[in-house]
Amino acid sequence: VDTFGLWRKRQFNQESNVQFGEGGAGTFSDGKLYSQIKDPQFRGRKVLTEFVKSGAPDEILYVNKPHIGTFRLVTMVENMRAEIESLGGIIRFQCKVEDINIENGQVQGVTLSSGEFIASNHVVLAVGHSARDTFKMLFERGVYIESKPFSIGFRIEHPQSMIDQCRFGPQSGNPLLGAADYKLVHHCSNGRTVYSFCMCPGGTVVAATSEPGHVVTNGMSQYSRNERNANSAIVVDISPDDYPDSPLAGVDFQRKWEKLAFELGGGNYNAPAQLVGDFLAGKPSVQLGSVIPSYTPGINLCDISQCLPDYVITAIREALPEFDKLIKGFAMNDAILTGVETRTSSPIRIKRNDSLQSLNTAGLYPAGE
Ligand SMILES: Cc1cc2nc3c(=O)[nH]c(=O)nc-3n(C[C@H](O)[C@H](O)[C@H](O)COP(=O)(O)OP(=O)(O)OC[C@H]3O[C@@H](n4cnc5c(N)ncnc54)[C@H](O)[C@@H]3O)c2cc1C
Repeated sequence: VDTFGLWRKRQFNQESNVQFGEGGAGTFSDGKLYSQIKDPQFRGRKVLTEFVKSGAPDEILYVNKPHIGTFRLVTMVENMRAEIESLGGIIRFQCKVEDINIENGQVQGVTLSSGEFIASNHVVLAVGHSARDTFKMLFERGVYIESKPFSIGFRIEHPQSMIDQCRFGPQSGNPLLGAADYKLVHHCSNGRTVYSFCMCPGGTVVAATSEPGHVVTNGMSQYSRNERNANSAIVVDISPDDYPDSPLAGVDFQRKWEKLAFELGGGNYNAPAQLVGDFLAGKPSVQLGSVIPSYTPGINLCDISQCLPDYVITAIREALPEFDKLIKGFAMNDAILTGVETRTSSPIRIKRNDSLQSLNTAGLYPAGE
């Protein structure tokens, strides 16, 4: 209800949104279940097996690029909750960890927003990449945190039929093939790398902020992947060298561009958007062309280059025509850019030792993002 509140009615809830709530960002993620990380102990297999037990289609155990689709995930997360409860687990809704008690480098427990203290020498910390208040609290309590690279950019939307045509040629539209995907990379003359990320065939661009007065984009699709547009994030690598030397500076960096995007969007949770042709020509967009943007609650056509750093804009302007050489039409005039994509991965890292505990806080097990 709260996630759709923003998507449909511009009603934003800071405590319950696409990033926070039951299942976290995972609930409203697209559910593309493939990754380029090394997995020598095949833990990913365990995840896939648990997903099938919770209601995911069996095919995720054998297809090349398994995908679940957002709305199936919502029910799966509810099934997982039922399983956890049947095994004796307790889930506290509308309640968050506000403080952590550490004595002599050992976790003693956590304090909840209700005021309750839960004593424990073992705390698994799986707060995702957007729990900025929790990152700050952990930093203030002395937990070792360091900044890490991530990427920022825009979402791009094209007609799915155009992507299908380029990828499948005469077989485009064949139901056996479904909607085509792509993966693109370009190393730019300014030293940056531009790449496509979280490509969603037949999907939609979604509002993914977790703070009021910010605009953040992401992408998702249903299992059927049959919406009219293909979308992906076109992002540029950012390193801790791009902002002041402090563990949480990456969060401030994200906030700066998200706030600018909110203002450029008109201050009502519309996202700033621009046609690719206008973006490449350096002029504001005033009218949509053939591609109808899918982002809700809406978009505001403008000069989107104002809401990301110059080196990011320069890199994307160089990369799009290069991508067009690989997928004819990728830099078509009417394709839509919507911004800003800032939550590609966490801007911080809470390092673990061999026993999976924080480097300087025994009993704290950082996990997930
Ligand atoms: C629209 C969208 C599409 C995506 N598509 C994909 C995809 O196709 N494939 C993919 O692999 N990834 C995708 N992702 C990213 C993926 O969702 C995340 O990488 C993943 O959810 C991270 O899991 P996590 O458990 O680390 O954190 P999260 O899923 O973010 O969960 C963190 C949880 O911690 C809770 N929390 C935070 N702070 C506190 C606190 N102080 N006290 C108590 N609870 C707290 C939050 O409410 C939340 O429930 C997508 C994300 C979005 C938003």
